[in-house]
Amino acid sequence: MIQPRPHIAALSVYGLASLNIPPGKRLVSLAQNESPFPPSPLALEAAGKAAADGALYPDPSCGALREAIGEVQGLDPARLICSAGSMEIIAALIAVYAGPGDEVLASDHAYSYFKTAAMAVGATHVSAPEVDITVSVDALLAAVTSATRIVCIANPGNPSGTRITGGEIRRLREGLPADVILLVDEAYAEFGPDDPVFDLMERGDTCITRTFSKAYALAGMRVGWGLFPKAMCDEIWKVVNPGGVSAVSLAAAEAAMRDQGYMKDIVAKTVALRDPFIDRMNALGLPTAPSHTNFALIQFPSVEAAQSADAALRAEGVVMRPMGGYGLPQCLRVTAGLQADMDLAYDILRDWKAGQA
Ligand SMILES: *Cc1c(COP(=O)(O)O)cnc(C)c1O
Repeated sequence: MIQPRPHIAALSVYGLASLNIPPGKRLVSLAQNESPFPPSPLALEAAGKAAADGALYPDPSCGALREAIGEVQGLDPARLICSAGSMEIIAALIAVYAGPGDEVLASDHAYSYFKTAAMAVGATHVSAPEVDITVSVDALLAAVTSATRIVCIANPGNPSGTRITGGEIRRLREGLPADVILLVDEAYAEFGPDDPVFDLMERGDTCITRTFSKAYALAGMRVGWGLFPKAMCDEIWKVVNPGGVSAVSLAAAEAAMRDQGYMKDIVAKTVALRDPFIDRMNALGLPTAPSHTNFALIQFPSVEAAQSADAALRAEGVVMRPMGGYGLPQCLRVTAGLQADMDLAYDILRDWKAGQA
């Protein structure tokens, strides 16, 4: 019989939330950190125009998009890589720099795709403890070994919603050996304070990724980007799929990047949906930490309580993300959704709480 490589056989398909709800209910998905707001009208217009040229292959260098990102973010387009979602860039980075016998280090409740991408190339995934569901620079530094090749952090974190300061990231970088790559995944940076660490790229050992999936409301278009030192850029371009970003997606992302006002409006509206919900959870006695993202992590008194609340929500069509896969089975992660949906989720949890002895 034909056999897969053992490290692939040991993997599971990357887990996303099950959106199963009772028949007849309206699905309210608060499970995938998608924007409840549509993409920028300018992005939609550009996408429509690009679709007319759909007979042609897209620009494999993503040149116009890299120019736009460079201009808006004040970065050198030659150091930027775009791909079909930032997940693809993360996988490419890990594939280029790690393999069997190498360790990829992240923290206990880190974004789980770091582990998937490490395992997919036969590298060993190593996990360091967090403190208060927040990345601990000291714990990461203590977990570095001579086999460590890449340290991955998402900042702000998913599913934690917490962040460490740019100063802490600099301290992490300075504590790491020079031959260890630091990946800072900033998928939610637009929702947090303006505290960029792009300058760390100049060192030659640090890279930063971002995405159009969250604050730009383009998750379905699949576009991510990253800032890499020159030597890393040259290698990673060899393994990202040429033409992986469709012409429609390139056009939408370019227009969205140039429409910063719209993105900032999405962020402000998302925060206005998120923070009152966090306050209501805390008032219900369900501890929910301040978040720097488009979601929040609700802590229940026990694993059973989280499961029972999940079932109560699902019975009404509301899906949050169970966190067992992240080592936080007593938690549910809730994406900021439209006000009526947040109100529905609150009402269900309030009634559920009242029904708990
Ligand atoms: C959503 C998310 C991404 C984005 O992935 P895309 O492939 O760009 O959609 C990356 N990292 C983290 C931590 C995320 O939560």
